[in-house]
Amino acid sequence: MKSCCCKCNKPATFTLNVLLSSYGIRPRRQKTSQVVPLCSACLRGLFDMPVPQIVHPLLQAVNRAYTALTDGTKSLDTTETK
Ligand SMILES: [Zn+2]
Repeated sequence: MKSCCCKCNKPATFTLNVLLSSYGIRPRRQKTSQVVPLCSACLRGLFDMPVPQIVHPLLQAVNRAYTALTDGTKSLDTTETK
């Protein structure tokens, strides 16, 4: 079953999750959050949204990952995953 965007209910084209790791504590503990399905439009909308300052570096990193994944194109917008 294909997930729908958590914001607008269109078919999701990406999922976003967060890996939280302990730092400077051994053994390292890591936990991945649940994935959040998003369509391309809502994902791009994230980058323009006013967010708490603490989230900015994380969002910039996501933006770079998004750009790398899509190679700056919008080709994934219409790609149907099987
Ligand atoms: Zn959406």
